[in-house]
Amino acid sequence: MRLVLLGPPGAGKGTQAARVACRFGTPHIATGDIFRANVAEGTELGRAAQEYMDRGDLVPDDVVIAMVMERLADRDCQAGFVLDGFPRTVNQAEALDRSLAEQGSPLEAALSFDVTEEELLRRLAGRAAAQHRADDAEQTIRHRLEVFAIKTRPLIDYYAHRGLLVPVDAIGPIEVVTKRILVALDGRRRPA
Ligand code: AMP
Repeated sequence: MRLVLLGPPGAGKGTQAARVACRFGTPHIATGDIFRANVAEGTELGRAAQEYMDRGDLVPDDVVIAMVMERLADRDCQAGFVLDGFPRTVNQAEALDRSLAEQGSPLEAALSFDVTEEELLRRLAGRAAAQHRADDAEQTIRHRLEVFAIKTRPLIDYYAHRGLLVPVDAIGPIEVVTKRILVALDGRRRPA
C-alpha cells in the first residue's frame, strides 16, 4: 500500500501512521521524526532544518524532497510505504507524483485527518507538556496551524481531484480511528 497522511499538527497522524504501516508491513516514514533525529545527531541536514522547525515553519521544499526521494529509493519501500508529514506543499506532492509515476507505482490513497481546532489545541498542549517538543509551545502551535492552513490544506483538493482522497474522522479512541482507516481503505480496494 502506498499511502500519504494529511492533517494538521496534533491530528494523530504519527500514531495512526505507525499502526497502519504495521498492519500493511510497510515502512512508516515520518519526515518530522527524520528531521528531529538529524537535529539530535547534529548532522548537516539537522542543522539545515532546525531553525525552520523551531519557528514552526516548513523546511524548504528542495531539502525535504531530496530527503524523501532518497528514503523511498530504499528496498524496503518497494512493497509500499506510509508517508507521515509529507507532502506538505503542492510542490512536494507534484515531486512525489512524478517520482512514483516514473517507477510505475502511483500513490494509492491520501488519508485526510479531520479534527476540530479546539481538539487540536487541547492535544498539542498535552503533547508539549509530555514530550517537551520546542515546537509545541503555544505560539508556535498557532503558527504551525496557520502554516498548515496556507500551505498544506490545498493538498486536500489536489488529491480529491485525483480521486485519491480518503477523509477520516480523527476524533475518537486510537483503535476506533485505526478501524475507520482500515475500513475506508478496504472499501477502496474492493469497490462495491
Ligand atoms: P512533524 O513532526 O511532522 O509535525 O514535523 C515537525 C517539523 O518538521 C515541521 O514543523 C517542519 O518544520 C518540519 N517538516 C516535517 N515534514 C516536513 C515537510 N514535508 N515539509 C517541510 N517541513 C517539514
